[in-house]
Amino acid sequence: MKRYIQAFILIIAIYIPVQAGAWSMLGHRIVGQIAENHLSSRSKKAIKLILGNESLAMASNWGDFIKSDSNYDSLYNWHFINLPEGLDQQKLFNYLDIQKEPNVYNKSLQLISILKNRQSTLEQRKFALKMLTHLIGDLNQPMHTAHKDDLGGNKVNVIWFGEKSNLHKIWDEQLIDYQKLSYTEYAKAIDFPSTQDITSWKSKSLKDFVYYSYQACNRIYDYTKPDSKLSYKYNFDFVETLNKQLLTGGICLANILNNIYQ
Ligand SMILES: [Zn+2]
Repeated sequence: MKRYIQAFILIIAIYIPVQAGAWSMLGHRIVGQIAENHLSSRSKKAIKLILGNESLAMASNWGDFIKSDSNYDSLYNWHFINLPEGLDQQKLFNYLDIQKEPNVYNKSLQLISILKNRQSTLEQRKFALKMLTHLIGDLNQPMHTAHKDDLGGNKVNVIWFGEKSNLHKIWDEQLIDYQKLSYTEYAKAIDFPSTQDITSWKSKSLKDFVYYSYQACNRIYDYTKPDSKLSYKYNFDFVETLNKQLLTGGICLANILNNIYQ
């Protein structure tokens, strides 16, 4: 009997959708690599003192790796923010200001202040830099700035090339994997921001980047109805959004770091 109960619990555990995930390993590394390409020489030096020979790309997945250690369970909500539907920019900004629970936005700000604080120990800096590199990736993944009732798209079932999937998973990994590129190839292929974007992104706050991600999220929700069968056409319609979010994430991270170490 006990064995049946154990099996039952295991099955339940497998099928209960949790709001987990993040850009796949690949997605985070692409963001890390693009950030690295846009670092100032001061930032590069400062980062080397913290990470040694580890690149931002390789450090970017640590925020997910630690999920295997129960000591870090309290960081669960750091990876995303649930946002209500239909917010305009100002309402979104106000909403971000009043959130007390940990989320990807307020935790990123906290990590930035740890890195800025001269009193922070090396250990604290290392934690802050690795987590920040990860979280800025997540913040630019549209389904990490999505709705609470469907757990950021985890409960929106869709079919991806004939296989059961969900909207969150499509955006975390499947659409990226579909491009069949390594993270270095990917970063090389999309790291061409326009001069206009570079200039405009420099003047933006982290709130603006949440808003960009939220806008992309709204387009995705509008287009992708539950139980849709997605394949070639979905890639065709959304690959540009995907690449833009990865690029934006990389530049956003570089700007934050260049600002800290100016
Ligand atoms: Zn994450």
